[in-house]
Amino acid sequence: MTLIDGKKISAQVRQDLAVQAQKLKENGTEITLAVVIVGDDQASRVYVNNKKKACAEIGYKSIEFALDATTTQDELLALVNKLNDDPTVNGILVQLPLPKHLDEKLITDTIKPEKDVDAFHPVNVGKIMIGDYDFLPCTPAGVMELLKAYDIEINGKNCVVIGRSNIVGKPMSMLLLHQNGTVTICHSRTKNIAEITKTADILVSAVGRAKFVTADMVKDGAVVVDVGMNRDENGKLCGDVDFADVAEKTSYITPVPGGVGPMTIAMLMKNTLKAALIQK
Ligand code: NAP
Repeated sequence: MTLIDGKKISAQVRQDLAVQAQKLKENGTEITLAVVIVGDDQASRVYVNNKKKACAEIGYKSIEFALDATTTQDELLALVNKLNDDPTVNGILVQLPLPKHLDEKLITDTIKPEKDVDAFHPVNVGKIMIGDYDFLPCTPAGVMELLKAYDIEINGKNCVVIGRSNIVGKPMSMLLLHQNGTVTICHSRTKNIAEITKTADILVSAVGRAKFVTADMVKDGAVVVDVGMNRDENGKLCGDVDFADVAEKTSYITPVPGGVGPMTIAMLMKNTLKAALIQK
């Protein structure tokens, strides 16, 4: 069994981006990401801080807009439109979830597609479907980058994705399909899930439940990618896969933490550079 080292691959991606950012800077382009956070959700604050830190390390400029929880929809839309029109801003990220009184879909749909570094805008979602994309959603893109880094063949392989969310499961399935995987998607209404997951050469779990994937669900020698980010009974960060139970059956497996997680921000940084290049 080989442990897939997301920290290492993420550091390599970020190092590569830093070199490219430096070159663009020498030619007068400073890559800028605008990060909007509304309210005081603690998890969102941690995510935003990590994104700003990644920008600083790579050599991008980040501008934070920290808005009060009482911000109205019109105020937030006005800010997004201002950032859309600002030629010095390359990427716009509105940290989700937003407070309940704000319409997340309306806000994310208002971000210009060429500045939509999260790839949530319907135009970018549609482009992913047809395989002609500028931006890839960060988490599925991170998984693909890990598979590539470890020379894991997707062509002709049985790929099973557990989860069908718009930000992970669906785009993940599409990216595997584009690489000629034979893809099956499982979700909460799937019957006999273990029978399906046992057919997987590559199994990606994006459910959000600790110890959901157990050894009896995994084929010998499978590649197992764990997207889940959960807390176990002791409050410790863990994935969807019962790692102790499953790992020895696999050929490759991602740990949590240190697997898919570090790749997500690296892919956001990659999208931000791409946005700057498109706008240039
Ligand atoms: P989500 O929107 O809650 O989707 C979860 C999916 O799992 C749904 O499609 C759901 O099916 C399915 N599911 C739930 N219970 C199931 C069951 N018993 N059997 C089969 N399928 C089941 O979550 P998400 O946003 O996709 O995130 C999934 C996990 O990935 C979470 O732990 C999240 O924290 C993590 N995550 C990690 C990163 C990272 O950077 N590592 C990034 C994003 C998300 P239905 O559609 O039928 O309800």
